[in-house]
Amino acid sequence: MTGPRPAVTNGVTKAAYDLPMLLLRSAAVATLILAGTSLTLGEPANARQRKLKVHISVDMEGIAGVVTAEQLGPPGFEYGRFREFMTREAVAAVEAAKAAGATEIVVADSHGNGQNLLIEQFPADVRVIRSWPRRLGMVAGIDDGVDAAIFIGYHAGTSNTTGVRAHTFSSANLTRVAINGANVTEGVWNAAIAGHFGVPVIMMSGDDAAIEEVRKTLGGIEAAETKRSLGFHSALSLTPQAASALVYKRVSAALGKVQTFKPLKVTTPVVVDVSFKNYMPAEVLAYLPMFERVDSHSIRFRAKDMAEASAIMSFIGDYRPDITP
Ligand SMILES: [Zn+2]
Repeated sequence: MTGPRPAVTNGVTKAAYDLPMLLLRSAAVATLILAGTSLTLGEPANARQRKLKVHISVDMEGIAGVVTAEQLGPPGFEYGRFREFMTREAVAAVEAAKAAGATEIVVADSHGNGQNLLIEQFPADVRVIRSWPRRLGMVAGIDDGVDAAIFIGYHAGTSNTTGVRAHTFSSANLTRVAINGANVTEGVWNAAIAGHFGVPVIMMSGDDAAIEEVRKTLGGIEAAETKRSLGFHSALSLTPQAASALVYKRVSAALGKVQTFKPLKVTTPVVVDVSFKNYMPAEVLAYLPMFERVDSHSIRFRAKDMAEASAIMSFIGDYRPDITP
C-alpha cells in the first residue's frame, strides 16, 4: 500500500456522508421495458422480510477522480491513493446497506487484478471476494438468496462514444459484447446474471455516460454520478469525500424502496456475440463447433442461460495454454 491512510473509513456515520450532492441525478422507479427485444424486466423480487442480503460489485473506472491508467493499476503513480478512494466508495455503500437493515453483505472486488479493495477497512461482518478467475465474474457470490445488487465504480461500454475508459470486460481485446443482438455494458451483462438468480440491480455509481447507458436497459435504478465524462481520459469529478457521501445517499434511497426494483430477465437460450480487436481470437475459437464465426473479428455462441454464458465468457477471457499453476 503506497497511499496515505484514509480519513474516513470504518465506523463512518450517516452524518459523515451528509454533504451537498453535486451532479446528482434523480431516479425514477424501474418501469422501463425494452420493447421488441429479448431483454425485459421480470417480476419483482420476492418479498423477503427479515433478512436482507446485499451484493456489491466494485469496479474502479467509475470511481470519482479516475481518468487514466495512472489511477487504475499498480504501475500508476496514483494507484495507491485511488485504492483508498475506491474502498471509501465501497464502504459508503456497505454502511448505507447496514443502516438500511442489511443482514448479510458480500463485496466483490471486480477490477484489474481483483485485489484493489483494502479489506481491513470494511466492517467485520462483510465478506469480500478477491482475484480471478472465478465463476460469475464481476458478480461472483450472487445467488438466489441475494435481495439486491449494487454496482459501484462502473463505466460505460465499449460501443459508447463517450464515457471515461469506456470498455466491456477488456479494453485491450474486445470491441463488442451483445446479448440476443443488443450491445451490452458490463453493467447490463452483470445485471442479466443477477436477473438469472432473480436479483434486481437497485443502484449504480459511475460517470454520467455509464449511468445513462445502463438506465436504457435497467430503467430508473438509483444512481450516483461521481463525475461527468469530458472524454475517454478526462472528467469533471466530485471529490472522493463528496462521491462517498453521494453513494451513501443513493444506496439508502434504493434500499428504502427495494421491493420496487425488478430483475433483468433475458430470453433463453442466450445468444452472445463477441467482437475482438484482433483477428486471431475469432479464428482460433471458431475451431470449436460451439463458436460460429460471424465475421473476421467476431464469434457467436449460444448458452442455456446467463450463468452458462458467463462461464463461457470467462473461459474466452481467462484461458491461455500457459496458465499456471
Ligand atoms: Zn475496471
